[in-house]
Amino acid sequence: MDVFNSRIHQWYSLFKRDLPWRDTRDPYFIWLSEIILQQTRIDQGLAYYQKFTETFPTITDLANASEDQILKLWQGLGYYSRARNLHFTARCIREHYNGEFPQQHHLILSLKGVGEYTAAAIASISFNQAYPAIDGNVFRVLSRFFGISEPIDTGPGKKIFSAIAKELIKGTDPGMHNQALMEFGALQCTPQKPACLKCPLQDQCFAFSANKIAELPVKLKKTMQRDRYFNYFVLFHGDKTWLKKRMEKDIWENLFEFPMIETSEATSIENLVAMPEVIQLVNPDFAVIKSVENWKVHLLTHQRINYRIIQVNLLQEIIMPLNMIEVNKKDIFNFAVPKLLETYLTGDNCIE
Ligand code: SF4
Repeated sequence: MDVFNSRIHQWYSLFKRDLPWRDTRDPYFIWLSEIILQQTRIDQGLAYYQKFTETFPTITDLANASEDQILKLWQGLGYYSRARNLHFTARCIREHYNGEFPQQHHLILSLKGVGEYTAAAIASISFNQAYPAIDGNVFRVLSRFFGISEPIDTGPGKKIFSAIAKELIKGTDPGMHNQALMEFGALQCTPQKPACLKCPLQDQCFAFSANKIAELPVKLKKTMQRDRYFNYFVLFHGDKTWLKKRMEKDIWENLFEFPMIETSEATSIENLVAMPEVIQLVNPDFAVIKSVENWKVHLLTHQRINYRIIQVNLLQEIIMPLNMIEVNKKDIFNFAVPKLLETYLTGDNCIE
């Protein structure tokens, strides 16, 4: 274990990337970076980290912002529950901890949106506490180097990895150690084509000597995806269009979208416009369908969103359902919308 640690630490001192959250131990910035980087590539997350730290330099600034402001800043990053939890937790820290990030590991872990991995990262980097942060990169490095074939997504498997990681972190600078292991997995011992020939661990690596790199780590569960079908109606009357806030406990909660009808399959446009909830918006007496885009696919971790945009010109003012918001076309970019609608709005074929 000593050889493993000393070589990884030395590798980290030589090859770590220069990232803004590596220049600070402020728990607010560490927490922000960890939440932004969940499910996000570093090159994409970096711009969001900069936007958030510039707009909200302190946790109290973040707590005092409106949720709409935070969602708008988060737009395009996906997994919007992270942004809502971020806001909830900032307000919780403002109310219960006087705006100071809690230091004890169990208190950090009790914050909404903070799991084992994030709590360990904050406790170790900001407060020098020896909690191992085990993300996918760390599972991969440990599994390959020590030859652990126990699945990483089962209870017994997690216990084995956790026990090894706890041994490894003893006696180290825990913040540096955790970051070194994660960085090593991200840059050197990558999922595909790890750089084994230039690896400082190669002579003692189980996977390299046993030719089992492609087989480790082992994961049991496959991600299941369900198909959903979203029909968006972009209604125009002069300069006006309409949006609706997604209030349900579902993806994209509290984001805005065009009026949308979800169907259980890729319904034909004829069947769609005959549906009672569509007739009240798109009735030949007062509306003309201008264009119907082909179905497109937007992938989420557990869902495949099949969607199409139907542009409709309204020939006269109609009484809209109460939950619809009238928006001037030029103001539409002030609203936080899901990524697929952002792509539509910034494309060439949308709002003229
Ligand atoms: S030798 Fe290859 S598989 Fe083993 S730790 Fe190094 S990069 Fe990973």
